[in-house]
Amino acid sequence: WRRGEAAERRRALLAAGSIFVALAIVALDVLFINAGSVYAIYLYAFASATVLGALGTERGARWNDPQHDRFRLVLEAASNGLMIVDKRGHVGVANARAARIFSYSVAELSGVAVEELVPGVGFSGSRGAALLGLAGREVMGRRKDGTQFPLEVNVTAMESADGVTTLLSVVDMTERRRSEDLLRRERGFLRQVIDIDTNLIFVKDRDGRFTLANKAVADLYGTTVEDLIGRTDADFDGDPGEVAAFRRDDLQVMDTRSELFIADERVTDSTGRVHAVQTIKRPLIGPDGRADHVLGVSTDITARKEAERELGVQRNEIAHLSRAMMVAELSGSLAHELNQPLTAILSNAQAALRFLERGDATPSDIQEILRDIVEDDKRAGHVIQGMRLLLTKGEARREALDLNAAIQDVLRLMHSDLIHAGVTVIVRTGRDIPQVRGDRVQVQQVVMNLMLNACDAMQQLPQRQRQLVLVTNLQGDFNQVDVIDRGPGVAPEHATKIFEPFFTTKGHGLGMGLSICRTIVAAHGGRLWAEDHAGGGTAFRFTLPVRVKEDT
Ligand code: ADP
Repeated sequence: WRRGEAAERRRALLAAGSIFVALAIVALDVLFINAGSVYAIYLYAFASATVLGALGTERGARWNDPQHDRFRLVLEAASNGLMIVDKRGHVGVANARAARIFSYSVAELSGVAVEELVPGVGFSGSRGAALLGLAGREVMGRRKDGTQFPLEVNVTAMESADGVTTLLSVVDMTERRRSEDLLRRERGFLRQVIDIDTNLIFVKDRDGRFTLANKAVADLYGTTVEDLIGRTDADFDGDPGEVAAFRRDDLQVMDTRSELFIADERVTDSTGRVHAVQTIKRPLIGPDGRADHVLGVSTDITARKEAERELGVQRNEIAHLSRAMMVAELSGSLAHELNQPLTAILSNAQAALRFLERGDATPSDIQEILRDIVEDDKRAGHVIQGMRLLLTKGEARREALDLNAAIQDVLRLMHSDLIHAGVTVIVRTGRDIPQVRGDRVQVQQVVMNLMLNACDAMQQLPQRQRQLVLVTNLQGDFNQVDVIDRGPGVAPEHATKIFEPFFTTKGHGLGMGLSICRTIVAAHGGRLWAEDHAGGGTAFRFTLPVRVKEDT
């Protein structure tokens, strides 16, 4: 009654009222008995029945209480397990979810001590503080079968008519922990994958801040991955020019939402060393279609570039060395080669002297002799120049070259040699053949060498048969030059050797001519080879690529 609630007062009234009615019945009964009018002891039964009836009605009313039903509904509708714990630390009411979490039935759960369900948590019965130590914590729960599982507990202390009770809201964290674990493992795995990569892998946002980076980036910048996150290139790279370039590229990728490939860029590491890197940047497009992040992968190409540079130096040195060696070997034949023009000059000069001494020389005779001397002198000069070209380290010249004109020059230079060897030359130059690109002197050296070989090959033939045919024509993208003799041909067992250095079948030969010719032709992008000629003799053929318009 003192609690003052209407329902409670009704209950108190009913209980007290029924007792008063029962007492009244008993008093009446006593009166009747004393008066002796009625012997009615059975009225007692009515008295107790009144109390029982009243209390029974009350009980029924309680069970049918709509408020109570609503409480039950709310309890069951909650997404968490809910348990009301009394001040002794025992579960009173619990919902089905709570029961399921602990593998009890709802009926079994009521009356179980909280310490059973959450072992190791001392239950403090003191007012208002019951179980508050658990609030918001994740602890281990224990199921009926004793197995343990992660459990999140929330505690609300409730002051109610019965004193302080506690509402425990519990969530089984097993699933969440499991998926979190999986996620963590997956993340750890991906982290390993990107960290094992020696490429720089990074993601930056619009403000240039790293949102992801692998160990390679951290190592380069002399810091840790954790430290990198949220910071920018400017915090680590001391070169403002580099930083500005990164920024510009990043923004371009995000703004155009297209990939960018940077073949060679620079990045300065924490020690101040500059690295050459090759980078691909790609926009990361969010669900809203905007690109607010850029993903980049950079490969350090410093070592590769260094190696390439060294290789280039080495190649140049080797080329120079082999050229120097070649020249050393050639110095022998240089004397030999120079001997021819020098001898020709000498004999021409002597002839001129004799003419003059005899006094019967016409100016045109002298003129012709002097012209020959000039030509021979030029040839000697060319021989020396060719040697010098082979010796100098610089690239051979590449100029637009008219093959037919170059060959005419050679024919003029070799005029006296050919007469001396008794060889007739038939020239069939292709008309309007395009220019090639190359070193004039070197190409002439090749033609001259092949012609001299041809003359040598035909030395044993009767003079009328010593015929040399020179052909130029266009074959696809190449100009081809054929030098054909009527000599005995190359012995089959020598066919593969004649282009090797120092292979010669001649007493005075050096064996370098064809090997140098092949080197020169190959350096021009062409090919030199020998074939048996159908009409007898040998055809040496070589090709030179035709000059394309853009070439200088
Ligand atoms: P060398 O002129 O010192 O002999 P080469 O390299 O010019 O060196 O030639 C190598 C060899 O190839 C010659 O010794 C010769 O046996 C052969 N050879 C070159 N040209 C001809 C040719 N036109 N006919 C036959 N054999 C040739």
